Amino acid sequence: MAAYSPFLGTTNNPNEAFPDIKSLKVVIKQDPCGDYLQKESYRETAYSKNNIPRYATCCNPRCQQGGIDLQSLVLFSGSGEYSLGCNGHEGSPKGRRKGDPCDNVFQVSVTVEK
Ligand SMILES: [Zn+2]
Repeated sequence: MAAYSPFLGTTNNPNEAFPDIKSLKVVIKQDPCGDYLQKESYRETAYSKNNIPRYATCCNPRCQQGGIDLQSLVLFSGSGEYSLGCNGHEGSPKGRRKGDPCDNVFQVSVTVEK
């Protein structure tokens, strides 16, 4: 898919991954219902341009193939507040069977400075 342009696959350089962005700040909160995480402090994660990963991983220990594509969100949506459901599912560990959809929600605050 075109939206999945390479980031960590072909470059580890955030200046190449985000060529038009001077600085960015991404704050992610997940698990709003407290279903998966025990400690409140685990819920919030903040990234800058220097340490943002391609994907935010889902905190649901049963979730398969979940998470949020942070690079696409920053590049195509830009600054704003987003509430995104996880795309993962609670399938078998080997992924042969699709289980229930993951109920986790990512609340993402993106601040982009160009
Ligand atoms: Zn998930």
